Amino acid sequence: MAKILAVTNQKGGVGKTTTAVNLSACLAILGQRVLMIDLDPQGNATTGCGVVKRVALPTVYQILIGRSTFSEARIRTDFGFDILPANRELAGAEVELIEMDAREYRLRDALSLARDEYDFILMDCPPALNMLTVNGLVAAESVMIPMQCEYYALEGLTDLVATLKKVRANLNSRLEIEGLLRTLFDPRSTLTQQVSGELVDHFGSKVYRTIIPRNVRLAEAPSYGKPVIAFDRASKGAQAYMALAQEMLDRRAGLVRPGVAQGAEA
Ligand code: ATP
Ligand code: MG
Repeated sequence: MAKILAVTNQKGGVGKTTTAVNLSACLAILGQRVLMIDLDPQGNATTGCGVVKRVALPTVYQILIGRSTFSEARIRTDFGFDILPANRELAGAEVELIEMDAREYRLRDALSLARDEYDFILMDCPPALNMLTVNGLVAAESVMIPMQCEYYALEGLTDLVATLKKVRANLNSRLEIEGLLRTLFDPRSTLTQQVSGELVDHFGSKVYRTIIPRNVRLAEAPSYGKPVIAFDRASKGAQAYMALAQEMLDRRAGLVRPGVAQGAEA
C-alpha cells in the first residue's frame, strides 16, 4: 500500500518541485514503485521529468473534473517512475471545482485504485493554499515541508501548521507532518545556521537529518528534462536526494529514529 505524501509549502521557490522530482527518481533507483502527481498549473514537475506539457494530454485536470481516469492520464517517465502530468489548464480546475460535489475529495477518490500499485505517491503542490492544495492534503497521509532556512521561514511555517490543523479537523483526520526538509542550504550563512537550529528546537525529530545544499546542478537539471541523478550523478545535489530517499526508507522500516542532527553536511 503506497505511502501518500504531499510536498507542500505555500511559500514559493523553496524547492517543492525539485524535491518531488528528485526524490521520486531516487526512490525509484532504490527499487520503489513511485507515482509523482503534479498539482501545480505551472507544470514544472512535469517538464522536469522530460514530459512535454501538451494541452491535448489528459492531465490531473481531467481527473479532477471527472473527464479522465487515473490510468488514462498516467505516464511512464524515462526515470523509472510514473507521473500524472499537469499544465496550465489545471488553473481552471480551481473555479470548476467550486460547483462540484465533494470537491475536496476528488483526487483522493481518483487515487483509491492506484494505492496498491505503488510504494510511494508524491504530490507536488502549488505555492498556495487553494483547492488544488486542499485536494492534495485530503488525498495525503502526511506532508513533507521543504523550507529554506531564512528569516521569514518560521513565520510561514506557523501559517502552514494552522492550515494543516484545519484540514485535519474538517477533511482528513489522519493527516500528519511527515518531515521538514532543509533545502537550498548554505552552511556559510550564520542566519541559515540559526534558523536551522530553531527549526530543530521546535520540531525535533520531524526535521530530516538529510540537508539539501544549494547546488547549481539541481537548478540546471530541469532544463534538460531530467532529475539530477540522471544528469550528474556525482553532484552534491544528487547525493543529497539519494541520502534523503534512503532516510525515508530507513524511517519507514523503523531502522532509525528520525534524526535531529544540526548543521550542513553540504
Ligand atoms: P514554486 O513555489 O514556484 O512551485 P518550488 O517550491 O517548487 O517553487 P523549485 O521550483 O523546486 O521550488 O525551486 C525554485 C528554484 O530554485 C528553481 O529554479 C530550482 O531549480 C532552484 N533550486 C531548487 N532547489 C535548489 C538547490 N538545492 N540548489 C540550487 N537550486 C535549487
Ligand atoms: Mg513548484
